[in-house]
Amino acid sequence: MIFKSINPFSREIIAEHEVLTNAQLNQKLELSEIAFKNWRNTSFQERADKMKKLANILRAKKGELGLLITNEMGKILPEGISEVEKSAGNCDFYAENAEKMLKDEKYDTPFTSMSVYDPMGAVFAIMPWNYPFWQVLRYAAPAIMAGNVTLLKHAPNVIGCAKAIENAFLEAGFPKGVFQQITIDIAQVENVIASDIVHGITLTGSEMAGSSVASLAGKHIKKSVMELGGSDAFIVLNDANIEKAATVATQSRMLNAGQACICAKRFIVTEKIADEFAALFAQKVNALHQGNPLEDGINMGPLARLDLAEKLSHQLEKSLQQGAKLVLGGERENCNFQPTLIDFVDANNIAFQEETFGPLATIIRAKDENDAIAIANNHRYGLASAIWTEDRENAYRLARKIEAGNVFINSLVRSDSRIPFGGTKKSGYGRELSEIGIKEFMNMKSLIIE
Ligand code: NAP
Repeated sequence: MIFKSINPFSREIIAEHEVLTNAQLNQKLELSEIAFKNWRNTSFQERADKMKKLANILRAKKGELGLLITNEMGKILPEGISEVEKSAGNCDFYAENAEKMLKDEKYDTPFTSMSVYDPMGAVFAIMPWNYPFWQVLRYAAPAIMAGNVTLLKHAPNVIGCAKAIENAFLEAGFPKGVFQQITIDIAQVENVIASDIVHGITLTGSEMAGSSVASLAGKHIKKSVMELGGSDAFIVLNDANIEKAATVATQSRMLNAGQACICAKRFIVTEKIADEFAALFAQKVNALHQGNPLEDGINMGPLARLDLAEKLSHQLEKSLQQGAKLVLGGERENCNFQPTLIDFVDANNIAFQEETFGPLATIIRAKDENDAIAIANNHRYGLASAIWTEDRENAYRLARKIEAGNVFINSLVRSDSRIPFGGTKKSGYGRELSEIGIKEFMNMKSLIIE
């Protein structure tokens, strides 16, 4: 079997990648096991030196790697380059902080007692195409700094990125087997999960993929972290800075052509200011230029795959039939989907109920702030939310009522190496990043000395 990398803008096949046979996959699993035996005993200093080198390699090659991202999944080149830079920053952060995050923790007992953190083995990661470098380095840098090894099953349309990341690890001096990309099909996923060397499974992707992989992890009694979809609320209240909110709303929905789990997807605005916000939002969305991701002046490239663009067209069509009003956009040619804004969406509309993975913004009008919070929470997903208000105390009170893993006040929702990231409800469980994230795949051993 062969996976094809198709440039979503030109529709040209840019590479073909052979899927591993089961025998080849077993060899990779064996290599993981051998690598772990040595890697777990290396010092934090040795790991950090290599991780820093990896960061420098990524930075030195950011132009070439950014271009690879753009060619494989279509984001504009500056976004591809900044994704590589952010990934390098994450490597630096865990190189500098992993040891202190994993220090022994003593307890107040009459005898000596503590928790110590031991690496578990291999972390098996299943990753999506939308941030093909960041999603990988986000889990891999902490896991490897902690003494684990890892196997990556990337999305079939970004295998070139997966191979480039593996090469960068090797060039940085990591021993073979510490980071391996495996080109495998979904049917082979259980073989990896079942393997004795694999002790942790992390998946970023859709709810359906999460449900299937989490079941397999449960079946084989392996710890898992699920970072799934979202339909993030972006709440604008009467006392918000509406101009700033409209600017960040545009960024939050349209970044990466709207293909991020933490893109704002439901813009919930109180009635009193809804017309003003909608007009400003429309003006800013209208100023965006969709087109060739390699051209200057283009803010948004194509969607990553034709089936994803077709799905979004279907969602838009149905939402309009269900009573939403088209403010602007809506046109599509192959993967090129124009930035689109719809208004007067309600909870029965498909654009409210389903995750929309592309440049489609939906305005929902709320009676007041309590209604806005109720609308935000009336959803199966709970990844992130934003609240816009000048009253910080009220914002804190409202943020506590939001059912989501992250709430940002007057700010763009984003993930940050220093802060735990993850969701609740159908957006998944577990956390990536920070001290909490690095400990997800550790054996926390209680040690008692009398
Ligand atoms: P997806 O199907 O969930 O793909 C993400 C990763 O999971 C890919 O590596 C995929 O591999 C793998 N996968 C899918 N089904 C699997 C299964 N049953 N067992 C094991 N692995 C499985 O996402 P997508 O098709 O690229 O996009 C579809 C939807 O997913 C989007 O509309 C969006 O809702 C959501 N999504 C969310 C995120 C996020 O960051 N939270 C990112 C991307 C997509 P294969 O491609 O080989 O199936």
